[in-house]
Amino acid sequence: MNIIDGKLIANQIKAELAAEVQQLRSQAGRTPHLAAILVGNDPASETYVANKEKSCAEIGICSSVYKLPENISESELIKTIEFINQDDEIDGLIVQLPLPKQIDVNKVIATIDPRKDVDGFHPVNVGKMVLGQASYLPATPMGIQLLLERSNVETVGKHCVVLGRSNIVGTPAAILLSRNQAHANCTVTLCHSKTANLKEICRQADILVAAIGQCEMITADYVKDGATVIDVGIHRVPDATKKSGFRLAGDVKYDEVAPKCEFVTPVPGGVGPMTIVGLLINTLKAFKKEIYQ
Ligand code: NDP
Repeated sequence: MNIIDGKLIANQIKAELAAEVQQLRSQAGRTPHLAAILVGNDPASETYVANKEKSCAEIGICSSVYKLPENISESELIKTIEFINQDDEIDGLIVQLPLPKQIDVNKVIATIDPRKDVDGFHPVNVGKMVLGQASYLPATPMGIQLLLERSNVETVGKHCVVLGRSNIVGTPAAILLSRNQAHANCTVTLCHSKTANLKEICRQADILVAAIGQCEMITADYVKDGATVIDVGIHRVPDATKKSGFRLAGDVKYDEVAPKCEFVTPVPGGVGPMTIVGLLINTLKAFKKEIYQ
């Protein structure tokens, strides 16, 4: 069994990006800049945005956070996005999800200038990704692909079962891993809550990507011997032995699944750190105008 150390790989890539940022700064005479919009006081969202700011600082990127109240109107939020769209000093813009109920998330995402959409959620970028054209790839699926690449997991011709079809993880992961490109070329089966015979399908997987948001649902009987298991899930499980009062767990029951795997990602320290790396990579692409002029 090989444990894929997402934290280590993320730190290696961040060091590479930090060197690139230094070079870009001296060439361009300015620093890449990522802006984040945070609406309300959701503790998980606050933590995610704080971690993104920290990672930007680590590699020498400038970041700014626009904190907006929970009761903000959709039109006020859209005005803020339009304002940032016009700011030539800001390269990338993310709107931290989820958003409060009064706001139409699709309308908000569609307002972001596709050239600054470093989450890769804008319909233009999603469309380009589906067509195999250059675009900002969604951060978590990009992170999964990088983990496979950096761990030398063979993907070509492998049967990859993706569990979950969300717009931000499962669906783009299935698209990316099925593409005719390096570190992809899998035969992909995309499963969801209506999939029949889920366990049987999972047992056929050479690579199993679990992104279902169901704590430790994937037990050893879902996994064939020698499979690679990528666990995207993040859950807080109450644990009185921890100072925080909880431990983190994934969608996979790690203790029983890991011994059967050739490669496996832990939670925490697997996919999580790579998601931020994906965002940093996209921000540098935006700065370099690699996707759009
Ligand atoms: P969503 O809730 O948006 O989607 C979950 C998907 O799983 C849906 O497609 C749903 O099917 C499917 N599903 C739910 N229950 C089952 C089941 N019992 N059997 C089969 N399929 C099921 O989740 P996300 O994609 O946003 O996130 C998934 C997990 O990954 C969460 O735990 C989340 O916290 C975590 N996450 C981690 C990230 C990281 O950086 N590590 C980043 C993003 C998310 P249907 O479509 O039919 O409802």
